Amino acid sequence: MLLDQLDAFDIFRPKMDFIKDRLHAIATVGPDISPVFPYLNAELGGWDYDPGNHVLMLKLTDGKWITLHPHEIAMRGLKDIAEAHALAAWIQGQINEVYERRESITPRYLSQARLKVMAILKNLPLTNCRACSYATCMAYAVALREGEISPRDCPPLGEEKFAEKRQKLMAYLESYGWRALDE
Ligand code: SF4
Repeated sequence: MLLDQLDAFDIFRPKMDFIKDRLHAIATVGPDISPVFPYLNAELGGWDYDPGNHVLMLKLTDGKWITLHPHEIAMRGLKDIAEAHALAAWIQGQINEVYERRESITPRYLSQARLKVMAILKNLPLTNCRACSYATCMAYAVALREGEISPRDCPPLGEEKFAEKRQKLMAYLESYGWRALDE
């Protein structure tokens, strides 16, 4: 087991956060947990991974984030103390479970934050038809890069005439570990 316990666990209300009703939490950990980061990035679809500085960011639903450092787990956007404890237990479990399976996992060093909007855009139908509820394909591409929507939210992409674009788009997104939230 890589991480058998969290050391200090501090839950607090940030002074300078515009979302005043949300909590932040920071756990410090004894062992260096960074060896599991490329495997967690592969398994959980990290938002951003900086292998050089050993920082992995996970974007969760409802404005929640977890940022992992070698000896620290920071969480933000938590709705209450119970959620802070639940999320800490969840990420500790993921760290241990993924570390145990690491030899069967292909590590991933790229992450969603490296996706380029223009590379997404060129594989969209480019008709600005608004069927996705965005005013332009560019606005849709930005939202897709942020992980806020799915390729399924562009109905024309499902049409046969755009099959090649759809395949290229999915290959590009998946090469960076992209996945829609909650999928
Ligand atoms: S539905 Fe697709 S083609 Fe239409 S505007 Fe949105 S992204 Fe562009």
